Amino acid sequence: MPFSSLSHIQTRLDNGETTAVEVAQLYLDRIAAHNDALNAFVHIDPAHVMAQAEASDKYRAEHGARALEGLPIAVKDIFCTQNGPTQCCSNILKDFHAPYDAHVITKLKEAGAVLVGKTNMDEFAMGSSNETSAFGPCRNPWNTDYIPGGSSGGSASAVAAALTPAALGTDTGGSIRQPASLTGITGLKPTYGRVSRRGIIAFASSLDQAGPMTRTVKDAAMITSVISGHDSGDATSVADAPELDWLAACDKKDMKGLRIGVPKEYFVEGMDTEVRASVEAALKQCQALGAELVDISLPNTELAVAAYYVIAPSEASANLSRYDSVRFGHRCENPEDLLDMYTRSRDEGFGAEVKRRILTGAFALSSGYYDAYYLKAQQVRTMIQQDFITAFENVDIIATPTSPVTAFKLGEKTDDPLTMYLSDIYTIAVNLAGLPGLSQPCGFADDLPVGLQWIAPAWREDVLLGAASAYESTTDWHTKAPQSFGGEA
Ligand code: GLN
Repeated sequence: MPFSSLSHIQTRLDNGETTAVEVAQLYLDRIAAHNDALNAFVHIDPAHVMAQAEASDKYRAEHGARALEGLPIAVKDIFCTQNGPTQCCSNILKDFHAPYDAHVITKLKEAGAVLVGKTNMDEFAMGSSNETSAFGPCRNPWNTDYIPGGSSGGSASAVAAALTPAALGTDTGGSIRQPASLTGITGLKPTYGRVSRRGIIAFASSLDQAGPMTRTVKDAAMITSVISGHDSGDATSVADAPELDWLAACDKKDMKGLRIGVPKEYFVEGMDTEVRASVEAALKQCQALGAELVDISLPNTELAVAAYYVIAPSEASANLSRYDSVRFGHRCENPEDLLDMYTRSRDEGFGAEVKRRILTGAFALSSGYYDAYYLKAQQVRTMIQQDFITAFENVDIIATPTSPVTAFKLGEKTDDPLTMYLSDIYTIAVNLAGLPGLSQPCGFADDLPVGLQWIAPAWREDVLLGAASAYESTTDWHTKAPQSFGGEA
């Protein structure tokens, strides 16, 4: 049961074979047994979890089941929740309690989900290894000497080790897909504007998007169908987004007639040879399922990381200016005057990586440099968007590796931010173009999971889910689970 998919647990609940209370207890027990080894959860309130589960069983008995009735879902510490602290794994938000629930949290509650707790992450979602967290690093259940990826590392680790059957993450430059890839689970980043950002602590507002991290493709669809939809409280939430039949999209068992673009820029020297081999084997499998592989080019790919590391820090420097210690957040002891209070509070509250982003962002936006950096980066962003538009004139979907390497050891890249930034080389362009992307497990290299990334045109998550479901139906990579946490390898 612990390694079951969300949809399997749902069937058991619907058949009366188990109850929300039993399910919640099972995962709480697993968290108690394994969280010390992984540091995947940074906040857990067992009494609150059990109260939600009891309420869910009662609701089911009285009114029938809602879309996610009684299903446990953990959320990254970036989502504002009325219950418990919301700290974005930063000292500047230590013990902060949000006055309201994020829109997606409200949606989950309305669908009957049981919120399990807050998961570890890189501070303010800035990182690719979960090592910048103020609560210490999270570990990869496949090998606890290794990082789980980031920034949604806690959500990934918790799902991979079955401390929860599903979790929410956020993805600004790859933070759902890269950790999903490195821990052998499925992660979906919806089209920008599909999911409301209200109540999600902002990193880079033009890129941030929330999405599910799950054991199967269908589970990702179940959650996205609940959390997506227009919200008048977020100006970037799109009002007339095309509606999809999320679950029906997952019924696909073959790829007949599907044209899959394989961009040459994503298969380059420097990528791990075993990662490459796994992804190429997956593509062969797609051909066997009836797909046609088409060589394509996304010529501006190599500019994506550079453009992102101007745009994301620029937006972050503006978003993070609100942490002034006046109305909320950490305040230094005995400030001499207002300026001293601002500077010392921020100096004490933010970690090194967050400071680096604020400084580079403020620099890129400063007068005299704006045209040279920020404006240029925005122009590059448009070129990258255009690359995808051109590619999708000829193909239905694009397939790539999610990450050029498998998980790396804790501490291996912390001294070298540039190497760390390259972790997202295959995921960042998708955010810059606002497209939906999905990572699913497609093999192992050196006993660590490898992920296959699917990229679809805007609003075509159904195409992503269809291709990923067809692939999943003929492989068993998604059923693998780390032995040391009770799974079958
Ligand atoms: N690793 C990237 C960064 O540090 C992406 C993070 C994210 O998607 N939140 O900015």
